[in-house]
Amino acid sequence: MNELKCAGCGKKLVTYDNTSFRQYKSPVKQCKKCGTYYLDPRCHEIAVEGVPEAEFSVGSQIVLMIFGGLVLYRGVYLSGRTQLNTPESAQWVLPTVLVLMGIAFILGGIVELIRIKTGAKARKYEKLRIESEERLQSRSYAYQLRDLGYPVPEKYL
Ligand SMILES: [Zn+2]
Repeated sequence: MNELKCAGCGKKLVTYDNTSFRQYKSPVKQCKKCGTYYLDPRCHEIAVEGVPEAEFSVGSQIVLMIFGGLVLYRGVYLSGRTQLNTPESAQWVLPTVLVLMGIAFILGGIVELIRIKTGAKARKYEKLRIESEERLQSRSYAYQLRDLGYPVPEKYL
């Protein structure tokens, strides 16, 4: 985990790592305590960085669904058996959690596949890209981004 502290007052602003959910919106934010501007490393200008290919990967959704299937299978398997080191009253907990998790992964995979196949996902990212492009059309915004250390392409400056 990385931690970002305010350059002005030292307040802790965000904790993040490489697996943090990528958000496609302006990374420019302001410290609530002292008003210093900073870049939120979780936020990305999609017009500059583009969309990661993995977002449209059918294979990774299928992997997710297979994983969900295994988790579900494990849950069903355990539900008929007594687990050691688990009190009688809590025997139902693990199988139930596994079954629900497995179903959630499978349904999540199906929903994502539908969104990829129908183009809904592409439309969503296109809308985000247009918004990002519009933000960057503002010179003052582009310069602010650059001054905060974001790699702004020449064409916006
Ligand atoms: Zn601050």
